[in-house]
Amino acid sequence: MFVKMRTFCYINYYRKLLKTARLHRFYSSNEGKEKNIRNIGILAHIDAGKTTTTERMLFYSGTIRSMGEVHHGNTVTDYMEQERQRGITITSAAVSFPWRDSQINLIDTPGHIDFTMEVEQSLAVLDGAVIVLDASAGVEAQTLTVWRQASGYRVPRILYLNKMDRSDASAAACARSVRDKLHAEPLLLHTDVRHEDKLIGLIDLLSLEEVIWTHGRGQNFSRRRLTEKEDGRKWESAMTAHKELVDTLSGIDDQLADTIIAQETLDIKPKELEQAIRRSTLSMKAFPLLCGSSYKNIGVQTLMDGIISYLPSPAEGHKLYRTFTNDLAARAFKVQHDDQRGVLTFLRLYSGEISKGQKIYNLGQDKSEQIGALYVALADEYKPVEKVTAGNIAVVSSLKGTMTGDLVTSTQAAATRAKTHLAKWLQEPGAKDQLMLPSARQRLQAMETEPSNEELADVLLGIGTTIPEPVFLCSIEPPSVSQQTALEAALAELQREDPSLRVTTDPDSGQMVLAGMGELHLDIIKERIIREYKIDVELGPLQIAYREALLGAARHTQLVDRKMGGNRQFCKITMSAKNVKGVPHDKILKLDKSGDSAANLSHLHPRHLSAIKQGVSTAIMHGPKLGCPVVDVQVTLHWFEIGRGTSDSVVTAGVAQCLRKVFEASESMLLEPVMSLEVVSPESHSSRVLADLARRRTIIQHIHVRHQNKVIDCLAPLSELLGYSSTLRSLSSGLATFTMEFHSYQQMSPYDEEKAIKSVTGF
Ligand code: GDP
Ligand code: MG
Repeated sequence: MFVKMRTFCYINYYRKLLKTARLHRFYSSNEGKEKNIRNIGILAHIDAGKTTTTERMLFYSGTIRSMGEVHHGNTVTDYMEQERQRGITITSAAVSFPWRDSQINLIDTPGHIDFTMEVEQSLAVLDGAVIVLDASAGVEAQTLTVWRQASGYRVPRILYLNKMDRSDASAAACARSVRDKLHAEPLLLHTDVRHEDKLIGLIDLLSLEEVIWTHGRGQNFSRRRLTEKEDGRKWESAMTAHKELVDTLSGIDDQLADTIIAQETLDIKPKELEQAIRRSTLSMKAFPLLCGSSYKNIGVQTLMDGIISYLPSPAEGHKLYRTFTNDLAARAFKVQHDDQRGVLTFLRLYSGEISKGQKIYNLGQDKSEQIGALYVALADEYKPVEKVTAGNIAVVSSLKGTMTGDLVTSTQAAATRAKTHLAKWLQEPGAKDQLMLPSARQRLQAMETEPSNEELADVLLGIGTTIPEPVFLCSIEPPSVSQQTALEAALAELQREDPSLRVTTDPDSGQMVLAGMGELHLDIIKERIIREYKIDVELGPLQIAYREALLGAARHTQLVDRKMGGNRQFCKITMSAKNVKGVPHDKILKLDKSGDSAANLSHLHPRHLSAIKQGVSTAIMHGPKLGCPVVDVQVTLHWFEIGRGTSDSVVTAGVAQCLRKVFEASESMLLEPVMSLEVVSPESHSSRVLADLARRRTIIQHIHVRHQNKVIDCLAPLSELLGYSSTLRSLSSGLATFTMEFHSYQQMSPYDEEKAIKSVTGF
């Protein structure tokens, strides 16, 4: 027994050694290896099977020795305690594992809408993505959301039709929903093989091979080429699907079309088809559909093969970062606190390399800092390494300032070199279109004036990315005054991990207020403070984050003239404000360039300008109606006079006072967050669900039928959706589900506005 045990340990030891050796090759050697790396994410509608699929991939790659299950709460990627309890994935973690002669770096993106910020950050660092569909449901509400986001970052995708074991699963219906709802060209690469109604394997439509998984835990499977003689009908239908695939592909890929014409045959070698699919996938003209059932251990290895075959290597994506040539360029996509190692920052390296203990320069913050230890994240451990090279994911400790989304390089000089290089590059014809991601285009469109090349470089490099507006607020309080400082420190740490969490302090009451993306988001923050920081915080009732917008325009002159500590403090400020849609944050203040104003403001000292800007920022935090942030506002400074020795803080306060008067005079309206909501309900319960929705001020946009379900798409004010999940559960005996996503801020009727004010102020 003892001997056996020892042998087992040895085998384990060598296995681990071998695995580490294989990975080591990728992390430390320089050239040539990038093409064997895949940085990918798995994106899906909740419950499509992301976590289950990830767990299987780690298992079949030999990275973990036993498979966890979501419902047992022991999967590797759902590592935070709350996730295990709730059975959903919240925080993205990166894991690396070897597959065939390549390495897959998997960035686990959160699947819940409250965490779209994290999804965006991880998308920005992906080279490719697997979109998991529940094959019995096809494209669902959140599939659309992640699809849109992936398009925004131009991420090539393959789709994995999971849950093919279900009797109502249909690959053909999924392909249709991809075409209809995502407006994308599907390339169906597999069909299912069933025996007595049970899924046992797949047919590979490229090679016309049947892949059958023998029982057990899915490690073993056999491949056999179908033949006309032996397989009859099966061969025939596979052949039809194969021809359809070749036909579709030849319409997309010119190179394949040329080959077909030159060879005068549709009989194309699988390898050539594979290359045509790869080209079509990389150019996003088409999207391969692969089938499987992760839970039943079928189709996971073929999915991993698909990742290697069709998704890009780091060398094939993100041309933008070539502006750094051989200097380090890396983006932080995750900050995490580890009990033993302290703050850990996950960096995606685009170019250059990073070494233990080196200095890095943060482009957005214009600051240098030193990294401590350097690791790579394997499935269940952080492995210390000396250096990590381009194309990979590095995990570094000790960074204090770098936040999720920041871009870093080695030195300030390297940053300047890269920006200059980029500005020059942008002058080449067509360069702008080639380098610009659609997500950056949106930011540019929001700018009022034509950006300088310097500004353009910043936008392209994603410096100062936009963070989604939080829609929920609640007050937060420590159990005793003595824990106030500890709580502030904890919140500061959490904010760095998750920039979509906002913490503010009410200037009047001193009350700390949390703002977040959803009920679950704030709930999880609370749980983490209690569990990880051991502070028994209390959260106040959840409130909607309203906004205010000006109704008209107004102008006011504010005079400050008083004695403070023996000095005369004097300033005279004239400002106006009006409602202008979509003014970006850094363009809110405008200087009046006409007549007398121009002459007066030409003397404005930069120090005073920054004090004025600060006054504007303070003033727009609180609108006249309900003290909510003022949005869609353009502020103009017309006149500024200042007495000698007047302090900057007096200027700031004067500006804030002046604007408060302006806002009061122009009056404001309340805007409320409106969500787009998708409810999926069995037909039998749908009339009750619809009747209830009608009472919630919803606008029904679209209702359609999917299997036995009605799918209801509508717009609903967030304030009407508090506690909606429990209402829906009881209305539908737990059979209906819903997802929601922030849509827009919209004006309210006077009646609803009054009601909202009453609910916030109590009168
Ligand atoms: P995620 O929310 O996308 O991470 O999905 P999970 O991996 O947590 O899976 C959601 C549920 O679907 C769990 O109960 C899984 O056991 C189940 N599930 C996952 N894969 C399959 C599958 O291939 N077939 C079936 N029938 N159920 C599956
Ligand atoms: Mg999950």
